[in-house]
Amino acid sequence: MTELPIITFALLIAAVLFILSLRGLSNQESARRGNVFGMVGMAIAIGATLTIPGLSPHPLVIAAIVGGGALGGVLAARVGMTQMPELVALLHSFVGLAAVLVGFSVQLHAGPGGGHAIEHVEVFVDVLIGALTCTGSILAFLKLRGSVSGKPMLLPARHLFNLSMLLGSVAMGYLYVDSGALWPLLVGSAIACVLGVHLVAAIGGADMPVVVSMLNSYSGWTAAAAGFMLKNNLLIVTGALVGSSGAILSYIMCKAMNRSIWNVIFGGFGADPPKAAAGAPAAPQGEVQEIDNAGLATTLLESASVVIVPGYGMAVSRAQHAVRELCELLRAKGKLVRFAIHPVAGRLPGHMNVLMAEANVPYDIVLEMDEINDDLPATDVVIVIGANDIVNPAAEDDPTSPIAGMPVLQVWKSKLVVVNKRSRAAGYAGIDNPLFYKPNTKMLFGDAKGAIEKVVTELRARA
Ligand code: NDP
Repeated sequence: MTELPIITFALLIAAVLFILSLRGLSNQESARRGNVFGMVGMAIAIGATLTIPGLSPHPLVIAAIVGGGALGGVLAARVGMTQMPELVALLHSFVGLAAVLVGFSVQLHAGPGGGHAIEHVEVFVDVLIGALTCTGSILAFLKLRGSVSGKPMLLPARHLFNLSMLLGSVAMGYLYVDSGALWPLLVGSAIACVLGVHLVAAIGGADMPVVVSMLNSYSGWTAAAAGFMLKNNLLIVTGALVGSSGAILSYIMCKAMNRSIWNVIFGGFGADPPKAAAGAPAAPQGEVQEIDNAGLATTLLESASVVIVPGYGMAVSRAQHAVRELCELLRAKGKLVRFAIHPVAGRLPGHMNVLMAEANVPYDIVLEMDEINDDLPATDVVIVIGANDIVNPAAEDDPTSPIAGMPVLQVWKSKLVVVNKRSRAAGYAGIDNPLFYKPNTKMLFGDAKGAIEKVVTELRARA
C-alpha cells in the first residue's frame, strides 16, 4: 500500500503535533494547549489513515470508531478525578489486547508457515508485550479499584519463576520465527499473560503509581511493535513517544520515591519479604488531640506562616475550591500561605497540581516536596487535608515499614500540624500513621469540604 505524498505529509504533521502535545503537557500553564495539539494531531492521523488508497473505510472500521468514540466520551464524562488511574490502567489493557488481536490476525492471514522471518519477529514481539501489558494492566486496575488487595505477592522462588518464563518465551519465539506455526505464538502469549500478572502482583500498594506509568510505557512499545508489523510509520512514532515518555516518567517517580526501577520492572526484585503490616489496615495506636473548626480559625489568625498539604481525601471530597478560599482569606490577612505537593499525592501523577490549577490557586505558591521540606521547621501551622501516607514519619523512622525509604513531607517538624480527615483510618498503603499521636499534632475530624468550609465561615465572621 503506497501513501500519497499529501497523506505522508499529513501523518508527519500529526507526529509533530503529538510531540508538541507532550511538550505542552509538561507544564501546567501550557497543558491545555498541549491537549488541543494532541486532539488535532489525532484527528489528522485518523483522517489521513482513512484516506490511504486501498484502505477505503470498511463499515466495521467506521462502526468501531463511532462506537469507541461514543464509549470514550461517556467514560470521560462520568469518571471522577479519583478514578482516573483505574481508567488509565484499563485503557492500557485495551492497547495490549488490541496489539495481541492485530498480531494474531496477521498470523492467521499469513497462514501456518506464511510470511518472512522478520515479520514473525515483529508479530511475536508485538503479541508478547501486548499480552503482558493487557493482563498486568487488568491486575493494576483491580488493585487500584480496591477489588484486589494492594499487598505485594512475593512468591519464594519468584525470580526463578520469572526467569523460566522469560526463557520459555525466548524458546517459543525461536520456534515461531523458525516455523511460522500458530502454536508457539499461542504458548508464548499465554506465558506473557501469566508474566504480566506475576510482575504486577509483586508490587506493593504504595508503589502502584510507578507500575501504572511503567504499564503506560509498555503500552507505547507494544503500539510501536504493531507499527512495524503493519508498516505504519505514525504508529511507530507515537508508540515510541508513549513508550519513552512513560519510561522517563517511571524513572522520575522511582527517584522521587527512592525506589529501584529494576524492582518495578522485575516485579519486587530485591524487595524484602512482606512485612507484617504491609497492605493490611493497621489498628490505630495511641491517643490523639482534637481541634475544632473554630479552634483552627483562631490558630490560623495567630499564625504568620501556613503550609497546606493536600492529599487523596481532598480530591474525594472535592474540597479544592474551599481550600483556595481559605488560602485567599489568609493571604488577605497578610499570612504567608504555601501548598506542599508530594509527587505521589492522590491517585495519579500530578493529581494535586491539576486540582490546584482547577481551583485557580496561583502556581507560584504551589511548591514541590523538595522545595518546601526545609521550610517546614520554621512554619507555624501545617494543615494536612485528606493526606496520610505522604506525611507518614514511619517512612523515615521505621525500617520495617512497607513505605520505609519513601521520601515524605516532614510536616511533624513544624510548630503545629492539623490533620483533617474523617477518622484515624489508614491511607492507601494500609499502615498506621504515628504523625497523629505526636504532641504537636491536632486532628480535625470530618469530611474535608465541610470542615474547611466551616473554617472559612469562622474566618469571615471574624473579619
Ligand atoms: P492516602 O491514600 O494515604 O490517604 C488519604 C486519606 O484521606 C485517608 O487516610 C482517608 O482517611 C482520607 N479521606 C478520604 N476521604 C476523605 C474525605 N472525604 N475527607 C477527608 N479525608 C478523607 O493519600 P495520600 O495522598 O497521602 O497518598 C497517596 C497514596 O496513594 C500513596 O500511598 C501513593 O503511593 C498511592 N498511590 C498514588 C498514585 C499516584 O499516582 N499519585 C497512584 C496509586 C496509588 P479517612 O478515611 O479517615 O477520612
